[in-house]
Amino acid sequence: MRKSNPVRMCVSCRKRNPQQKLYRLQKDGSILVKYQGFGRSFYLCKVCLNSKHIEKKIAGRMKLDIESVEKLLDLLRYEDKL
Ligand SMILES: [Zn+2]
Repeated sequence: MRKSNPVRMCVSCRKRNPQQKLYRLQKDGSILVKYQGFGRSFYLCKVCLNSKHIEKKIAGRMKLDIESVEKLLDLLRYEDKL
């Protein structure tokens, strides 16, 4: 078991959370994707994932294609329920 428990900040609400409770995402050009294991990434918390207008907020802030944001966030919500 790892002793360290890294804390990261949600890109939307800026609250700090344990890394494993956050969704790690990244940009692939103007497309939002899950973290691919390399490159720059950012985090989104569960509260924000389920908040209203989050797609617009993320797309605007990160300069992303809104459809790719909607698609990926829908997938994350779906996987969350599994
Ligand atoms: Zn948040």
